[in-house]
Amino acid sequence: MAEHIRKCVDDQGYTLEKNCPICGKETILPRPPKFSLPDKYASLRRESKKTGLQEKGLF
Ligand SMILES: [Zn+2]
Repeated sequence: MAEHIRKCVDDQGYTLEKNCPICGKETILPRPPKFSLPDKYASLRRESKKTGLQEKGLF
């Protein structure tokens, strides 16, 4: 499961552990969650689609 791979910011090593096996520091998830961004665009797209239908007289 590659989704749970974590990274140590100290020695740039990848691990599955919550703490780095090399230096013992807490590891971070290298990919920040970006779920809010596409969601925002999706609602904008929905909005423009609705407006487009109204302009074509399909409302
Ligand atoms: Zn480390």
